[in-house]
Amino acid sequence: MTPPDPPHGSTVSPMRPDTPADHITEAERLLRTAAQYPEDREPLLLRAAAHLELAGARTRATTLYDDLLAATPPPEHPQLVKALKAANLWEYGHEAEARIIIDGIRATPPSDAAAWEIVAETLEAHDELEPSEAAFTAAVTALVPSPDDEVPYPAQSLLMGRHRVRRLLGLRHDDWDVLADRLHTGSVPLDELHDPKRLWSLGSSDPAELQAEITRLRSELGSYRTALSRPFPVAVLLWPADELTELLAAYPELESEYPTHEAHLTDLEASLRELASAGTPNLGIVQGTVPSYEAFAASESTAPSNASLLPQYATTLAARGRATPWPPARTAPCWCGSGTAYGECHGTARI
Ligand SMILES: [Zn+2]
Ligand SMILES: [Zn+2]
Repeated sequence: MTPPDPPHGSTVSPMRPDTPADHITEAERLLRTAAQYPEDREPLLLRAAAHLELAGARTRATTLYDDLLAATPPPEHPQLVKALKAANLWEYGHEAEARIIIDGIRATPPSDAAAWEIVAETLEAHDELEPSEAAFTAAVTALVPSPDDEVPYPAQSLLMGRHRVRRLLGLRHDDWDVLADRLHTGSVPLDELHDPKRLWSLGSSDPAELQAEITRLRSELGSYRTALSRPFPVAVLLWPADELTELLAAYPELESEYPTHEAHLTDLEASLRELASAGTPNLGIVQGTVPSYEAFAASESTAPSNASLLPQYATTLAARGRATPWPPARTAPCWCGSGTAYGECHGTARI
């Protein structure tokens, strides 16, 4: 599915390669970046592997997962790497090996939502609905403090996935399902969105029916199918005030992108909200600095004054694992650095 158009040109990543060749090119660019920034190797290799998977180069993707798992020091998120490896293997005829890996992950429950989500969605994608539901439930039980507390953002998507699979199984709502319904902000209620008949028709073999359903549901369902195995943020670029001043002094060509710092911050929150309401998962913010932006321009053999470089810079920072998830909790400090709680700063309803 095609994500919505970015609301504010350069702030949002446009890196959406479509052809297999584009994905290979992007994977190779990320592997070069990994050589340049060895400290960010893990997120970069995971992202490169995702592009290889999208290009159908699944064996090469497996090689990257194996490299990460064999690395010294070991990967920071071994369970996530294993889950992604299993999801990939299952896609190209290595079901038995994938199942062994998944059983191993479920036996040592991961603490990060992403690994759980990949496991549960992999099972779901292969119509293993009962084990998928069990994995979602184990994850939600482990990661959501209680239905009364504020639910951390990554756990929200586990609740949504669990709701979807339970609808497919025809199970009655429990407290977690009620919570998922309450957290869902789209205009189409979750129960309609996750209607089994509708979800099945997304897998229909009738192209016209499929296209009509996809078009109708695109904005609501967002990129959930594309998001399978792709826990990567859509990054929006934030310039701290002093960095923005320095950037515009050095490259006045970029002034049209950023009229004032305050407007930049307001735009950024508005962009993220627009993407969120269109169903884009995994939103995040990356912070730019002038020296790192200049280094990036040099590595791409172009001038920093070239505004079309900004989104690619954001994508690369996100690929290096530098994105902070958005939105913050309402009581957490705002992403803008004001020191005020998000709910009383850029998180107010007014914006
Ligand atoms: Zn519901
Ligand atoms: Zn703020």
